Amino acid sequence: EKPVIGFLGLGHMGLPMAINLHRAGYRLKAFDVVPAALEAAQAAGIETVSAGADAAQDVDIVLTMFPTGQHVLDAYRGYLLETAKDNTLFLECSTIDVAQAREAAQLAVDAGHRSADAPVSGGVVGAEAGSLTFMLGADQSDLAQINPVLEVMGKKIVHCGGHGAGQAAKVCNNMLLGISMIGAAEAFVLGERLGLEHQALYDVISSASGQCWAVTTNCPVPGPVPTSPANRDYQPGFAAALMAKDLGLASSALDNTQTDAKLGSLAAALYRKFSDEGNAGTDFSGVINAIRDGSL
Ligand code: NAD
Repeated sequence: EKPVIGFLGLGHMGLPMAINLHRAGYRLKAFDVVPAALEAAQAAGIETVSAGADAAQDVDIVLTMFPTGQHVLDAYRGYLLETAKDNTLFLECSTIDVAQAREAAQLAVDAGHRSADAPVSGGVVGAEAGSLTFMLGADQSDLAQINPVLEVMGKKIVHCGGHGAGQAAKVCNNMLLGISMIGAAEAFVLGERLGLEHQALYDVISSASGQCWAVTTNCPVPGPVPTSPANRDYQPGFAAALMAKDLGLASSALDNTQTDAKLGSLAAALYRKFSDEGNAGTDFSGVINAIRDGSL
């Protein structure tokens, strides 16, 4: 029998994820603090509840898809852990600080529950299509319960280790992505100034050692990759504000581990500035425009 799932956080990502679970026949008790989000879930035929605690009442899994780790810790401490029946699985899918993820897992375990962190990549498009990648930090013994649920919402699940390992993998990946996008943008601007056509440089990089996702999928100049956000005036895609958020989590992880990562720290500072200076909703590849005009 399918587990009953309390689903909290019906935002850009959460709502389409909840819709996919509902369509796959899962019973949900869904909640969001924003009335419009609740109404959108109801319109999709999803059962909603009128308070966060009710979403944790008599369910097998409590799934959270919140903006930040503070939202997660507040909800866990405030009402979720005490309302849930013993041994409930707390499946935390938001992108949060690694230390906060480990703290949340410990709180859940101390309260007699089980915990897993399963942040995602793939964005709203992946959430709608059910093709997300999940980076999973979980006990081996919980995989049999977790995997079928995640398989409804995603197409790839990577079990990275124990509690917090999913968030750790996500923060490392996105730190590299931020660095590599800035690097790709710098290479294209330098190429322009050396008189190279975008296509010529693309043809070289995409089959040479500079090859990376930032170039071959999310190419920061229009033309070579027709589906990249550069071709639609840098509409996201992956918004600069979200990259700035994820790099902030990377900075915090660098601090907590006393890791001297000069490029990761610099990428975090540059994306924070780029996002704050009017580009929060721009695709993160739009950073090329700030590099070109020297304002980064
Ligand atoms: P969002 O802000 O659209 O959605 C979060 C929702 O949580 C909001 O609707 C908010 O009202 C709700 N919420 C906050 N506190 C709540 C509470 N106590 N009870 C119930 N609902 C509550 O954010 P999103 O874009 O859906 O992202 C969610 C998470 O996924 C974030 O951590 C984000 O970093 C991560 N993420 C987002 C993307 C993306 O492309 N949007 C991609 C990968 C990961």
